Amino acid sequence: MFFISYLMSDVPRSEQFDDVYFSREDGALETKHVFLDGNNLPSAWQGRDRFTIAETGFGTGLNFLLAWDLFEQTASQGAFLDFISVEKFPLSADQIRDGLAPWAERLEPYLDKMLQFYPIRVPGFHRIVFDNRVALTLVFGDANDVLPEIVGNVDAWFLDGFTPSKNPDMWTDNVFAQMARLSHAGTSFATFTAAGFVKRGLRDAGFFVEKKKGFGSKRDMLAGYYDPANSPLNPPVNGGRCFNTAINLPPASGGIRGGRVHILGAGLAGCAAAYVLQQYGFKPVLYDPNGIASGASGNAVGLINPRFTAFRTAESDFYTAAFAQTAKVFPSFENVGYKKCGSLHLITNEDKEKRLTRTAENWGWDSAHMRIVNSMEASLLAGVAVNYPALYLADSAQINPRSLCHFYAQGIEIQTQPYKREEGDIVVLANGIGALDYVDLPIDTVRGQVTYVEAGAESRNLKTNLCYSGYISACLDGTHAVGSTFQKWLTHTHAMAEDDESNIAGLEANVPVLKGLLIMGQRAALRTSAKDRFPIIGSINGMFLTAAHGSHGIVSSLAGAHLIADFLRGGPYSLGKSTIESLSPARFVLNLRHSGESRNL
Ligand code: SAM
Repeated sequence: MFFISYLMSDVPRSEQFDDVYFSREDGALETKHVFLDGNNLPSAWQGRDRFTIAETGFGTGLNFLLAWDLFEQTASQGAFLDFISVEKFPLSADQIRDGLAPWAERLEPYLDKMLQFYPIRVPGFHRIVFDNRVALTLVFGDANDVLPEIVGNVDAWFLDGFTPSKNPDMWTDNVFAQMARLSHAGTSFATFTAAGFVKRGLRDAGFFVEKKKGFGSKRDMLAGYYDPANSPLNPPVNGGRCFNTAINLPPASGGIRGGRVHILGAGLAGCAAAYVLQQYGFKPVLYDPNGIASGASGNAVGLINPRFTAFRTAESDFYTAAFAQTAKVFPSFENVGYKKCGSLHLITNEDKEKRLTRTAENWGWDSAHMRIVNSMEASLLAGVAVNYPALYLADSAQINPRSLCHFYAQGIEIQTQPYKREEGDIVVLANGIGALDYVDLPIDTVRGQVTYVEAGAESRNLKTNLCYSGYISACLDGTHAVGSTFQKWLTHTHAMAEDDESNIAGLEANVPVLKGLLIMGQRAALRTSAKDRFPIIGSINGMFLTAAHGSHGIVSSLAGAHLIADFLRGGPYSLGKSTIESLSPARFVLNLRHSGESRNL
């Protein structure tokens, strides 16, 4: 990863860029002078319900923490701050704590809260909501690559790359053009530098630029605002909103914060949506005739894994973001049976060897989070003999999905009588195959039966989940879940002895040392899956939809919930533009049109 050293001074310093993260004179005072005062904060957010800051270069998060502190002290009750920051070389939580040690007291409680949820270092989008009042969207990647993926409307920019002469990639025309795209008339910016090419670049992109007194020994700095009349983007692209028309979004609705949202379905998708919408200040209502977690979300054990693809794509970025979010958020939930145990995805054939080795190469995850291990290391990690090499995910875990749904739904109004739609209602379809009562989509059910077994002498030692074509969960309270059948052709949920046999046979064939486990019970349920086996999350026919989470719903439903909230708030979005488009129901319209069939979804 990235190395910082403290050899030259007490402030964190990058060897790679030969520069410090903030002023040696006083980092916190520099933040106040350059970024907060430079953007006229707190005055700029007075009287606003929502305010969005975007930053280039998250570093230690000092700017974020001080902006959060100032917002807490000065913004009106009920106001919400979104802070977006891009970072190519994320520091570790320990490096951040060390770097911010001089302000540890001053930054409490914000620093602890931030570090508790600081994302695992995998590329892409990471959304964290703090205290139902501040959301941090951290995007790990090169500013030039990730800024074009951001969708939102920015009110103020903190330009905080390393010194332009040492870090020119952070100060490119491309970066300035993306700033213009995400800005509206009057969006402000501030930066510690007064470099000539930065000044010219910002002017050329449509910003009014002024020199101001710099911080400490720095003579000048730059600040200013976006003026669409002087922008090459004139006529304006309407900030990030231009994207909304592309996916057929109803008018951005930040104003409905506090409003009721009717969520159909109280499985993982619906309960997660209710939980997240409440965090953003909405009043969700859950409707389900069968109560909470009655369907496939009602299992007692579920594994937390992304769905793998050989290449990094918009889809894999979704699973990366979703998985990373669960790794940080779930440990803070009480009574959900969460256990971080890691998963080994056994490489049992040539096809898996190709796919999983490519996954490890192409997804760009640090080896601390994803790596290929040989059978010896796999056995050591698992605690039982494993005959195959494997893809190892250290952050993988198990959880009780039924308890998770109940956790999500705490304090949420639940209705068991059928929902009656009224004009103007905001509706979220999270009712699996039931969504077909409202919309036309290529989704179907897939039956799955899980077998619960008692741990045996050998399996008691199983410390990780093992995944082959099926799976066995790590030993928890003397039991394991062994799954799962996958039957598109069956629509009933009666337990079948032959399914238990098939689950056990799959286990014994792939992990022969785990023979003869005693069956204690089983559960069959129907999951919903799309034709392309990717969730569908977006807007359709004036409603919102989070569906087809298939067998990765524990992971995908939480990220899906944030995306639904983003739609309702009118951004900024918690996922990249390409990923949002790939999740959209509109993808099927295109497919159908291409095949000559024309159905308007
Ligand atoms: N704002 C930070 C703070 O409060 O600690 C300090 C930022 S430091 C001066 C600059 C940051 O930009 C570093 O964290 C560095 O890793 C990041 N960076 C450098 N080049 C980048 C690039 N091309 N894309 C994104 N981030 C980059």
